[in-house]
Amino acid sequence: MRLFDLTGRVALVTGGNGGIGLGMAKGLAAAGASVMIAGRNSTKNAGAVRVLTELGARASSIEVDLTRESDCRRMAAETVERLGGLQILVNNAGTNIRKRPEEYTLEDWRTVIDTNLTSAFIASQAAFPEMVHAGFGKIINIGSMMSLFGGVAHAAYGASKGGIVQFTKSLAVSWAKQNIQVNAVLPGWIDTELTRRARIELEGLHERVLARTPANRWGEPADFAGIAVFLASSASDFVTGTAIPVDGGYSSSG
Ligand code: NDP
Repeated sequence: MRLFDLTGRVALVTGGNGGIGLGMAKGLAAAGASVMIAGRNSTKNAGAVRVLTELGARASSIEVDLTRESDCRRMAAETVERLGGLQILVNNAGTNIRKRPEEYTLEDWRTVIDTNLTSAFIASQAAFPEMVHAGFGKIINIGSMMSLFGGVAHAAYGASKGGIVQFTKSLAVSWAKQNIQVNAVLPGWIDTELTRRARIELEGLHERVLARTPANRWGEPADFAGIAVFLASSASDFVTGTAIPVDGGYSSSG
């Protein structure tokens, strides 16, 4: 359907080499977008490019550490250089350091905030001129259930993900006149590398998640293809500043 057609659009997906990011990248590629993958691990990057190319998309990758400002800016410039534009930015890369707040070092705090929140700010700023040039833009920021709730070992992660929602709203308001829509997606509990570690570290987590999720399953990266296409396409041209849970009902359940 044309409403969801992304032919001719270029997307940059941070952390798109696996997990939720790759799930979104696959959706964007299948809808016709060219996709740039940005991540630290070049082997994972190359694997993701292979997957996207097999779907018939133009795809490329770049090795970046998004805690560095220069890398955030370089990936935007390289996307334009290699793929001819940048109208869709998915700020998905994220990390967590699970410790109680009293045990957190300033270095831990900065790593989490820089990766999850500051990189989204710098990348959005770097993409802005190209979106203005195109006459439109779509920014998709990835939050979390920790954008809504607190957790005992989640002070920095929760601050970064709560920040992502407020950042999304301010960017949406600031750039509406430039026809740039900015929205956040809040994943529930999704089966990825990030949560596989958590399931080992936190006893009973797997069962607790199942018990609270009305859909009665963990989410899969493929569950993010549809929302990515919607928020990147003309179908969402009047949707901006929102934070949409993709959580199998987790945040609606008591
Ligand atoms: P993964 O661990 O599979 O993916 C994280 C991605 O971020 C990887 O591609 C990783 O790339 C990239 N990344 C991390 N740090 C950096 C960095 N410094 N520079 C560049 N890239 C980096 O986890 P998920 O897919 O689960 O997470 C994706 C997003 O979804 C994150 O923002 C996470 O907070 C969020 N989320 C996940 C939930 C879940 O249940 N899984 C729930 C709620 C939110 P590389 O390996 O190359 O470093």
